[in-house]
Amino acid sequence: MELPRKILIGESVISELGSIIRSLGTDSPTVAIISGKKVKARAGKDCAQALKKESLAFSWHIGDNASMETVGKLQEKLEEKDLPDFVLGFGGGRSVDIAKMTAFKIDKPFLSVPTSASHDGISSPFVSIRGTDKPHSVKANTPIGVLADTLLMSNAPPRLLAGGCGDLVGKITAVKDWELAKEDRGEYFGSYAANLAYMSARIILAESKRLGKANQFGIRTIVEALISAGVAACIAGSSRPCSGSEHLFSHAIEYVAGPDFGLHGERVGIGTIMMAKLHGLDWEKIKETLVDVGAPTTAKQIGLSDEHVVKALVTAQSLRPDRYTVLSKIKLDIKSARELAKAVKVI
Ligand SMILES: [Zn+2]
Repeated sequence: MELPRKILIGESVISELGSIIRSLGTDSPTVAIISGKKVKARAGKDCAQALKKESLAFSWHIGDNASMETVGKLQEKLEEKDLPDFVLGFGGGRSVDIAKMTAFKIDKPFLSVPTSASHDGISSPFVSIRGTDKPHSVKANTPIGVLADTLLMSNAPPRLLAGGCGDLVGKITAVKDWELAKEDRGEYFGSYAANLAYMSARIILAESKRLGKANQFGIRTIVEALISAGVAACIAGSSRPCSGSEHLFSHAIEYVAGPDFGLHGERVGIGTIMMAKLHGLDWEKIKETLVDVGAPTTAKQIGLSDEHVVKALVTAQSLRPDRYTVLSKIKLDIKSARELAKAVKVI
């Protein structure tokens, strides 16, 4: 198991970034910060100040696009000079993903400093990025540290937080799919990792009424759950506990419709409603939870056509044939996919 060594969550913990890096590294560690333009403008000062306080040398790099092309350019830029001791991803899910992959490519430790709680990649070794040879997430290295400043996160657009909840409710069907793979295929099933991931979804279901607003309780609960889910993937050594048929649906949407339809967690949330129905679970409760936290529950809300949804449902399992899920067991065709999406009012 490869787990993060330090995890710090709380209001204004960004001010401790420099000392965290010192505690993890060599005498005078150097840091390459990878971030998006908007986040740098909004919160870059806090990040820079924390590093200056500890007299750490750092450089800023902008990576707005979660693609291997961006990673390649950043890698080239970093390799022009002495390599940094740490690569720090500062920003939303995209910046964290770009930085994690860049760190992996140059073989340096990665520090995750998310400014929004939008998906579980903030603490896991997995990366969703375009331009790999796989249509789903791929494995890089586990972050050596995770620093989640809940005050910084409270200034992020509320839609991102709702997306984080969508990614979390997805663990319900991901764990069910894993159980199914154990029963039908004799696949290894890690109870501890499965329970940890499942618990991070349960808390969202239980507390959904209080989570909707960007208050400190809501942010802290969601970010803790996302970090726990990411750690569950670290423990399992695979994305199994966190990613099942609902994630295959999300990847399929990107595949059939392109990358501009909803956030990762929004697509996963919608996928979870449908996969829960296929599993015979209480999909209405999942839908209610998503409504409570302000996440979308219909295709229309994220700009998708009915045809996109149907096509994605039919295609999803073929994107990852080796990952046995409910979609391997119940093979959907155009007709049954449409019926499913209609039955739960996604279309
Ligand atoms: Zn996810």
